[in-house]
Amino acid sequence: MTDTPTIVDPDVVAPAVAGLDTIVSLAKRRGFVFPSSEIYGGINAVWDYGPLGVELKNNVKRAWWRAMVQERDDIVGLDAGILMHPQVWVTSGHVAEFSDPLVECGTCKRRYRVDDLPGAEDLSPAEASDPGVIERLGLQCPNDGGPLTPPRRFNLMLKTFLGPVEDEAAVVYLRPETAQGIYVNFRNVRETSRKKIPFGIAQIGKAFRNEISPGNFVFRMREFEQMEMQFFVRPDNATAQFEEWLPRRRAWYERYGVSPERLRFREHRPDELAHYAKKAVDVEYRFPFGWKELEGIHNRGDWDLSRHQEASGENLEYFDPATEEHFIPWIVETSAGADRAAFTFLIDAYREEEVRGETRVVLAFHPQLAPYKVAVLPLLKKRAEIVDLCHRILADLKRDVMAVYDDTAAIGKLYRRQDEIGTPWCVTVDVDSLEDGAVTVRDRDSMTQDRIPIEGIKRAILDRLEAARTG
Ligand code: ATP
Repeated sequence: MTDTPTIVDPDVVAPAVAGLDTIVSLAKRRGFVFPSSEIYGGINAVWDYGPLGVELKNNVKRAWWRAMVQERDDIVGLDAGILMHPQVWVTSGHVAEFSDPLVECGTCKRRYRVDDLPGAEDLSPAEASDPGVIERLGLQCPNDGGPLTPPRRFNLMLKTFLGPVEDEAAVVYLRPETAQGIYVNFRNVRETSRKKIPFGIAQIGKAFRNEISPGNFVFRMREFEQMEMQFFVRPDNATAQFEEWLPRRRAWYERYGVSPERLRFREHRPDELAHYAKKAVDVEYRFPFGWKELEGIHNRGDWDLSRHQEASGENLEYFDPATEEHFIPWIVETSAGADRAAFTFLIDAYREEEVRGETRVVLAFHPQLAPYKVAVLPLLKKRAEIVDLCHRILADLKRDVMAVYDDTAAIGKLYRRQDEIGTPWCVTVDVDSLEDGAVTVRDRDSMTQDRIPIEGIKRAILDRLEAARTG
């Protein structure tokens, strides 16, 4: 790599929030994330996004699409089906290989992924699947110290049946990654978009994995969303393209507010590489539970297209008119999780500050990611003219941005509530507004207040949003 991975001591870089509970409870209390089907006791590793969470996650996806598709001439979008021809997953290697080593405790019957066991975190996939690994390392059940079975491979793909007959011939898989939808559409997209190599195809969509040990809130879920981009390149250009995508993808997280010191690259060891990968580097984030993968960047060689060409019998080669060569393009992939990215932005935005002897909780979201851009608040809700004016301002703002009205508490408390959900600006209408036609705009981070004429508010908010985007 040109940009050598920074070696960062995990104990030196503190997480943005010491305990995950702080974030989990804020997320629940303020309506970012709820356990799925909670009234029935929940379903393990599936989470629902509440009113604020859906805005945050949509904004994360929009920011990714903007950087990966809208702002580029060489990447186009795609939205492929979750269900695909079952042969896709045989060809891709998922039916044979997409599995984790699973062990079970002989007494409490709990199941674990081998590399989630204390003392086994650094094992390569081959070492973790070795039948003698439990004995060799003296591993025990972390719950009750009971004996563990030797590892067996557990396939992570979820199955269902297509059509009215539930037999083997009707089995289809819920896709475990969005990438395969891109590979099988490579020719369709190239022909219709008339793109020349190097070019990419980007996709955001749901993926499903029957994870053995999900956990850490939305970090590892069984139903989640991916934001993947596959860049098709000449074989002799793959290494250079790979090196270019590394800093570009890291910069995207920084551009939207993640602290640079809590990001690092980690290159996969040769014994860790997936069957398709020539080289893989993860962008990692310092979560409260350690450094973990945020996004994977992979040089996949010609594995995917040549396998699909062979299995389907269709020609997936590219003809380069400049050199008059036919070849299978190589692929550089950037594979991120939308939920994991939203989770990261949420954690990294969390601040507790002392203000006049009180603790103020702030989510210092980048304004483009904030669920609401502006809140309109009355200083006196008993004055009908003030409330009317608030609603007129709100209606105008809502034409362009997510805005909200709140009059259910005194102004200090209303500010505090908006701080806690990360609203960058509050517009307050007071008695003077009725006379001078101006309102107060309060900034979340600096808490400074500006007096702005009512007719200029929307422009001021839009200008600040634009400045935050380009700044
Ligand atoms: P791991 O080894 O931790 O299981 P992985 O290397 O298999 O993860 P990839 O297949 O590279 O993960 O997936 C790409 C991205 O998709 C990850 O970086 C992550 O952001 C997201 N992702 C993968 N699995 C999950 C999951 N179970 N829940 C949420 N996001 C996920």
